[in-house]
Amino acid sequence: MTDGPTYGFDTLQIHAGARPDPATGARQTPIYQTTAYVFRDAEHAAALFNLQEVGYIYSRLTNPTIAVLQERIATLEGGVGAVCCSSGHAAQIMALFPLMAPGRNIVVSTRLYGGTVTQFSQTIRRFGWSAKFVDFDDLDAVSAAIDDDTRAVFCESIANPGGYITDLPAIAAVADAAGLPLIVDNTSATPYLCRPIEHGATLVVHSTTKYLTGNGTVTGGAIVDSGRFDWSASDKFPSLSAPEPAYHGLKFHETFGPLAYTFHGIAIGLRDLGMTMNPQAAHYTLMGIETLSLRMERHVENAVKIATWLENDPRVDYVTYAGLPSSPYYERGREICPRGAGALFTFAVKGGYEACVKLVDSLEIFSHVANLGDTRSLVIHSASTTHRQLTPEQQKAAGAAPNVVRLSIGIEDADDLIADLDRALSAATA
Ligand SMILES: *Cc1c(COP(=O)(O)O)cnc(C)c1O
Repeated sequence: MTDGPTYGFDTLQIHAGARPDPATGARQTPIYQTTAYVFRDAEHAAALFNLQEVGYIYSRLTNPTIAVLQERIATLEGGVGAVCCSSGHAAQIMALFPLMAPGRNIVVSTRLYGGTVTQFSQTIRRFGWSAKFVDFDDLDAVSAAIDDDTRAVFCESIANPGGYITDLPAIAAVADAAGLPLIVDNTSATPYLCRPIEHGATLVVHSTTKYLTGNGTVTGGAIVDSGRFDWSASDKFPSLSAPEPAYHGLKFHETFGPLAYTFHGIAIGLRDLGMTMNPQAAHYTLMGIETLSLRMERHVENAVKIATWLENDPRVDYVTYAGLPSSPYYERGREICPRGAGALFTFAVKGGYEACVKLVDSLEIFSHVANLGDTRSLVIHSASTTHRQLTPEQQKAAGAAPNVVRLSIGIEDADDLIADLDRALSAATA
């Protein structure tokens, strides 16, 4: 799997990780709604608990439905393994957990999902971790922010709230030079539009809540490991390279090689943090992934049409969408996301904060929700909602200034969406 998929994306999104149920022949992956699994005998139980044999013990750690989803996502991302968990935010904590310790820091992009900015600037400090926010277009600043206590570099591929694409190969080179893993949140792009591991990412995290599930039904997260990072090259990552007291001194990297990080995520991360995905959620997400490529194609096609229309409308100040030739990130987008720059973008309404609020209230097809990546078109005024907790400087840096509205373009008829925006813009700027 590290050499990339042997089948095409459309085939893998339906088949990777799944096989007819060995007990019944059921063609669709069953929802294994069980907490525990019967051991064959005491010796089998002991082998499982010692990590000498891979199998099912208890659904906080492993579950067959979730295992299919893990393999599906790992395959689509071109990784060696994946761990699913209860939400995208859980995935971020789970991703950092094996790398961090009190006093350690991460160097992160200023252009991040609002909830991630809060998680990284406030909440992780309770663990003694910290984040340094840097403009990731300034590679020297990224290098300069890295110090002896830095344990990871973190960014989004297509960054929320849209319009910005990270130069992944350049950032990966900076992380490499410092001997650090690069973690890329690929939620807004999905592996159909961008495969960060091919651009040098060590780990990929997802909020499966968004495009992977696609219908706005369940929350979930995933961490995919490229299997390429040498955790033993320095003494920076003792959780993976040094003896683990909870498993009789087992060394994860030495024992499991490229699967060390994934095994650690299950055997320590899920076991002790308990941020487990449930099998019902895994089922919905598996259903969603089966049509990922079809949906993403339509999402992108609609986004290009609507962004182009908005850009030419006199009631609009500007549109930030990397799929528009006028965007400073258009060329970079064609390299990093060759199949399209996603379906998430912002635009500035003439009339500022008040007009934005009116616009959001006047739309009919677009739903005003704090979500993205749904089949339905969604709208949010970030400054009064998701980015409300941020300072004005943080809002601006995150592309969520008061006069800016974010759209998550769905897969409805583009003409209907344009007509809806046209009506609402008239009401907002009257
Ligand atoms: C939604 C989102 C998250 C958080 O995911 P949850 O599933 O809501 O916890 C993280 N990153 C990005 C880019 C997101 O869109």
